[in-house]
Amino acid sequence: MEWPADEQIAHNLAAVRQQMAAACQRAGRAPGDVLLVAVTKTVPAEAVRAAWRLGVTDFGENRVQEARQKVADLRDLPLVWHMIGHVQSNKAGQAVELFQMIHSIDSVELARQVGARAARAGRTMPALLEVNVSGEESKFGFRVTAEEQGAFLAAVREIVAAPGIDVQGLMTVAPMAANPELARPHFGRLHELQGELRAAIPDCSWRHLSMGMSDDFVIAIEEGATIIRLGRAIFGPRPVG
Ligand SMILES: *Cc1c(COP(=O)(O)O)cnc(C)c1O
Repeated sequence: MEWPADEQIAHNLAAVRQQMAAACQRAGRAPGDVLLVAVTKTVPAEAVRAAWRLGVTDFGENRVQEARQKVADLRDLPLVWHMIGHVQSNKAGQAVELFQMIHSIDSVELARQVGARAARAGRTMPALLEVNVSGEESKFGFRVTAEEQGAFLAAVREIVAAPGIDVQGLMTVAPMAANPELARPHFGRLHELQGELRAAIPDCSWRHLSMGMSDDFVIAIEEGATIIRLGRAIFGPRPVG
């Protein structure tokens, strides 16, 4: 598998930025309203450097193990690293060391571990709660169907009260679909949930909605995303397997 040349990354990024701007305009939103996180799983450090030279500041990884090496290799750059994949509670300490934001808080236990590790290091970890909006069995994240909403709210109250962690919003991964329009109701539901949480737990900012990937980020922006997470749209297809 050949990795894209800098010119290819530049070309891809220009197209992404154009689509982001157009989607913001359609939705009546300011272009600076949406943060682009470039997802670098499987992408070598040199390609990350190329994206940084092109103005990308924020990068996402979904595995602590892979991120360790890459973050170390790129220590000379002032990059902001986002954890976007499932974190086992026993990796909370490493996640706190490597990342500046964790998008994938999916249990009270993980939130407690992350908060405890951050507090011990004299920090507060910015975090998003991952929500399994679609209810797919295979997905991580809090479930929020009508029957599960009471338990969800109780969990959120515990997390918000935990020391060392600063909950700033919600994250979701839409189901895979041939037609990106099918993601729209899931994104809309996350936005609606943000409003419900603002009303129920007002002492928390709830400002971020991390939603939208390479195939559906335009729709996510139209539905209120403040953070989009793009891998393939910037770096090209990943190796299979
Ligand atoms: C891989 C990944 C992305 C980016 O996916 P692309 O389809 O390459 O844009 C976004 N979010 C999460 C949680 C991921 O694991």
